[in-house]
Amino acid sequence: MTGGFATDLTAYRTALREYLSGDELGDWRSRHYSTTEERIAHHALLMGELYHGGWNRYGWPVEAGGLGGDERHRAVLYDELAAAGLPVPTPHLLLETLGPPTIRFAPALAAEYLPNYLRGGEWWGQGFSEPEAGSDLASLRCRARRDGDNYILDGQKIWTSHGATATRLVCLVRTGSPESRHRGLSMIMVDADTPGVSRRPISLASGANELAEIFFDNVVVPASRLIGEEGQGWAVAMYLLQYERAMYAWLSAAEASRRLRELCAQIGSEVEEGRRLPGDALARIGDCHAQLVALRARSAATVRKLAAGETVGPEASVDKVLLATAEIALYDLSRDLLGPDFLFAPTGAADEWRGEWWYSRSATILGGSAEIQRTILADHVLGLPKEAAR
Ligand SMILES: Cc1cc2nc3c(=O)[nH]c(=O)nc-3n(C[C@H](O)[C@H](O)[C@H](O)COP(=O)(O)OP(=O)(O)OC[C@H]3O[C@@H](n4cnc5c(N)ncnc54)[C@H](O)[C@@H]3O)c2cc1C
Repeated sequence: MTGGFATDLTAYRTALREYLSGDELGDWRSRHYSTTEERIAHHALLMGELYHGGWNRYGWPVEAGGLGGDERHRAVLYDELAAAGLPVPTPHLLLETLGPPTIRFAPALAAEYLPNYLRGGEWWGQGFSEPEAGSDLASLRCRARRDGDNYILDGQKIWTSHGATATRLVCLVRTGSPESRHRGLSMIMVDADTPGVSRRPISLASGANELAEIFFDNVVVPASRLIGEEGQGWAVAMYLLQYERAMYAWLSAAEASRRLRELCAQIGSEVEEGRRLPGDALARIGDCHAQLVALRARSAATVRKLAAGETVGPEASVDKVLLATAEIALYDLSRDLLGPDFLFAPTGAADEWRGEWWYSRSATILGGSAEIQRTILADHVLGLPKEAAR
């Protein structure tokens, strides 16, 4: 592995593509999992393979276990994995969201834990939402009270992706007064096995335990686990949001493109055997492809901004809206083209399509609902006049 890849993106892409074209990672191609836990654990092993070869270390700073480079290296990795018919390892989703703020605001924690994350030895969950605080995140109530060198956490989080198996939880908590809203928040990292933390998996409609409720009961967390200063939580969350909107959209677009190709390959072979498709099938496939191309074009510009060290502001809500629309179109297409197989086939492949279809129903909710994204665009990008109070 040459260190030159950190500065030569084309050489990195070429070498990575060659590596992925081999058979070493065959175990992760076209593999179906019966549970979320099984998928995450197996994908973590894929991270170990990629780490061993250095491939997923590009794009991350050396101090955090990386080999240098920037966001574009990570974008190339996701692209090339998808092009090679391989999944983007599931733990990379939250690594993209939680890694950058940890590196920026808590470099010591990043140095201690991110190398293990990159090699698949652990993964983290994002504890922001609460039963009464989703869209209105600044109203959250999970409390962290300072006690000497520690904080004592009490409260609840909900909808924590991968929360049931995560090693660590990056939580937005209230350190100020109950009325302090966004000014009284702090970000803190909690080891999920700390006494007083309990987790209850939430089954999705598909049956997958993708999310969890997390309860904190007198949980002692060292103050050294703060990400940023006390009271700086909202600024850290806004920094994080750039990655949640930008890198998550790119990564998801890469995955969606792979799934569209797989759908077309499956349908194509059925057509060769004489199956007739619905009359609008080709137009819908084309529309879906066009949506993904538009998303990628938009998302590439956002990733370039991040790589250049520019701040990605409210305009990233465009990426989020495009992603949600494209994902819903893709999985509705799979439902309609796979026909009865989508509903009834007892195979792992059909199960995966069904699970993804169910999950895509949440595309307009997770990470900030579509209504909220459109409001951000109306208020902060387009500068439209506020709605008159009725
Ligand atoms: C699959 C999935 C994964 C998730 N993963 C995580 C995670 O890892 N970590 C985490 O912290 N959270 C996670 N979430 C939670 C997610 O961020 C919230 O569901 C989301 O922010 C919406 O909050 P809510 O569910 O409380 O809905 P609410 O905020 O109660 O909203 C309900 C409805 O009202 C609308 N609404 C609310 N306020 C307004 C407004 N001001 N103007 C117009 N419409 C409005 C919303 O658009 C929505 O349609 C996840 C959610 C899902 C579905």
